[in-house]
Amino acid sequence: MVDGCLFCGVVSGDIPADVVAETDFTVAFRDIAPKAPVHVLVVPREHHSDLATLTDDDPQLAGRLVADAVAAARGEGLDGRFRLVVNTGAETGQSVFHVHLHVLGGRPFAWPPG
Ligand code: AMP
Repeated sequence: MVDGCLFCGVVSGDIPADVVAETDFTVAFRDIAPKAPVHVLVVPREHHSDLATLTDDDPQLAGRLVADAVAAARGEGLDGRFRLVVNTGAETGQSVFHVHLHVLGGRPFAWPPG
């Protein structure tokens, strides 16, 4: 738990969120400003600032995070038709520095992304 970290606050329950799934390692909750009909964020309970840091520190947890994101997509009825996004660094759009996977679905997506 890192003081002042928004998603540490969601994990601890100090910050309210619409939680859709939880495991021993991760929490999945709806994005407050959804970019698609389904937009769920999946975060590790442990604080890691971004995906690169997480994979360096704990590749097994990185694998669990991806697996739980796929489970969240399936839970939302998106089996086989979802997009995972992990912004890494402010330049790519990362605004919360507690690693999170965006699970997006429910509409078509352009490729390549803008
Ligand atoms: P990123 O820009 O990749 O770091 O993604 C951060 C995401 O967190 C954005 O899509 C925000 O809409 C979302 N967000 C910010 N605050 C909250 C919150 N309190 N609960 C749920 N989602 C949030």
